[in-house]
Parts: sequence; structure tokens; C-alpha cells
Amino acid sequence: MKPFSYARPATPAEAVQAFTAAGAGARYIAGGTTLYDLMKLDIERPRHLIDVTAIQGMDAIETSGDRLRFGALATMSAVAVDPVVARDYPVLAEALWKAASQQLRNMATVGGNLLQRTRCLYFRNGSGNPSSVGAFPCNKRAPGSGCAAIGGLDRGQAVLGQSDACTAVSPGDWPVALTAMDAEVEVVGPAGVRTVPVAALYRLPGDTPHLEFTLAPGEMIVGITVPKTAAGHRSTYHKIRDRESYAFAIASAAVALDMDGDRVSRAHVALGGVATRPWRAPEAERLLVGKRLTPTVALDAGHAAFAQANAGRQNGYKVELGARTVADALTIAAGRTV
Ligand SMILES: Cc1cc2nc3c(=O)[nH]c(=O)nc-3n(C[C@H](O)[C@H](O)[C@H](O)COP(=O)(O)OP(=O)(O)OC[C@H]3O[C@@H](n4cnc5c(N)ncnc54)[C@H](O)[C@@H]3O)c2cc1C
Repeated sequence: MKPFSYARPATPAEAVQAFTAAGAGARYIAGGTTLYDLMKLDIERPRHLIDVTAIQGMDAIETSGDRLRFGALATMSAVAVDPVVARDYPVLAEALWKAASQQLRNMATVGGNLLQRTRCLYFRNGSGNPSSVGAFPCNKRAPGSGCAAIGGLDRGQAVLGQSDACTAVSPGDWPVALTAMDAEVEVVGPAGVRTVPVAALYRLPGDTPHLEFTLAPGEMIVGITVPKTAAGHRSTYHKIRDRESYAFAIASAAVALDMDGDRVSRAHVALGGVATRPWRAPEAERLLVGKRLTPTVALDAGHAAFAQANAGRQNGYKVELGARTVADALTIAAGRTV
């Protein structure tokens, strides 16, 4: 770990000011469960840490208005056990419950979760020097060095959204659920305040996989909002992993359904563990509208979600696994009573 300066501002404005004054190498830090980890691996080398955890009120959870609002500092565990979230939006509660471990969820914030970096083994197992090629080339860690996963061990890599430069999977569960539910983030930065759809927070890797998020330097997430919808009742986050607990998704699906009698009137479907960013599946959503949710229709929707999939050498299993994960999620959600 390299030396760094440390500041603990009391307001979002002070935090942005501290970030701007610190200049290149500044990073915000919240729960620290990802950033400290990457610093110890010598993959991240911030020169200035702006700790936002002393900002009062930025951990508030508000569920009484026409939308849910989660302050960026609310912990994953606090949001997961909120009674309104747990009752009316199981997709959100389950995405949080099924992530990491209880100890991590107690520390980790719902804002920091959105900006975690990939768990691609080649990204995390470099030389320890982010500016060199190291043991394994990684365009995300050392731009221009190449991608060892392409032609290498690609069992965990993406089948959607990858490029010739990067196939790393977007690791988070929570961003997938938020993408399905049309959530937005409230951002404060040097240029003022703005709102960004969660789905627009993530870049495709293209030729620049080291640029992962659309936030400008110094922009800080202060809150997350989710429009209220009756579809929340018929929703689920279905996560498939190599072991049943404490593991990242190899395939996941966040779904929510509006039903008109026994027919789907609107579907929300997003995928995790299979794509380079949280992945909305409009092909599956369109296929479901007006249909009775039979097992065949659910599996057809799953296959539609993966129509553009492109597998490597060892990750072809994700295409059928992912389709069946969507189908199972749809069946679980449809079985929930309003
Ligand atoms: C062993 C292990 C297993 C895990 N398993 C899972 C899993 O199964 N599913 C899953 O989804 N996650 C998993 N995680 C990741 C975990 O959920 C994240 O580490 C956590 O959510 C990050 O939140 P944090 O507050 O600790 O972020 P930090 O580590 O503090 O920050 C993460 C990033 O966000 C930035 N940041 C933080 N807050 C803000 C803000 N308000 N505005 C702007 N930038 C900000 C930081 O600069 C940093 O780049 C796992 C982590 C570990 C260590």
C-alpha cells in the first residue's frame, strides 16, 4: 500500500471541494470494502482519500413518498431489512441479501456498491503495478497491455457486451436490480447537481475498458431513487453462483412483473454475472407483454435475453444457464401475491 492523505469532510459540498483541491489521484471512500482491498493488492493507488462517512444524513432511507430514496451511505444491510423494501420490493432486498457476507453488508454502502470494480481474475492478479503489464496483461488495469482472459481462462467472463479489449464481468448484484427497476442516482460534483439513470452509469468496455463509469472527476453519489411501482410486489433477484453463499454471480436475473389477470402487461428484466455492465434485456421484456407466463414462454423470454450472446472457450454454459435463470426468476416473481 502506498502513502495517501486523508480528509473527512462534513458535507457533500466540502467533499467535492476537498476532492477538487486534492487534484489527480483523489478518490472518495465510504465503507472501504472494495477500495482498501484494491489498495492492498496495489491495483488502486489513490494519493488522497476523501472519506464521506461523516456526512450527516447521507445514510437516510425514505420510503414514504412516490419513490424510494436511499442515501448513498445507507448500508447494504440496512436497506435489505427495511420493512417497506423487504415487503414491496423483494428484488431490491434479495439483491442485497445475496451479496457478500453479513459483515461486509454491515460496512458496505449502497453508493459504494455501484462503483465496485470487476472481479476478473486477470484484473485482480497483476504484478502489483497498475501501470505495467505484470504477470497478466489487462487493459483495464494497464491500458493497451492486452487481455489475458481472451484465449485464457474465461469460464467467468462475460457473454454480453464484451469487446476485443475486455471481457470482464460487472460484478454487482444491487446495480442489476436497480437497472431493472429504472432507478436513478443523484450526483453532486464540481459542475453542480445532476441525476443519472443507474443504467447509464456504466460504460461498455469498447477500446477503453479502464473507463468504467460515466461520472466526471469529483462527482459524488449522494442518493439513489427508485420509482414506486406495483410491479415491485411481483419481483425477485435470482442469483446462481458456484456456492450458495458468499460468492459473486455466475448468472443472475432481476425481474418484476405487472400482470393484467393472468397475462403480463409489463416486464422488467435485467441480467447480472453474464455481461460487462448491468444488462437490461428489452428483447425478453417485449416478448412477455400480453402473454400468459407458461414455462415455455418464460424460457422463450430467457433465450430472447441471450439472443446476442457471444461466448468464449469455457463460458458457453452461461448462455443456457442465464436463459434458465431468467425463466426461473419470472416464475418465482409471477407466483408472488400482491
Ligand atoms: C469478499 C467479498 C465478497 C463480495 N461479494 C459480493 C457479491 O456477492 N455481490 C456484490 O454485489 N458485491 C460483493 N462484494 C462487493 C461489496 O458489495 C462492495 O465492496 C461494497 O458494496 C462497496 O461498498 P463500500 O461502501 O465499501 O465502497 P468503497 O470500497 O468505499 O468504495 C467503492 C468505490 O466507490 C467509490 N465511492 C464510494 N462511495 C462513493 C460515493 N458516495 N460517491 C462516489 N464514489 C463513491 C470509491 O471511490 C470506490 O471507487 C464483495 C466484496 C468482498 C470483499
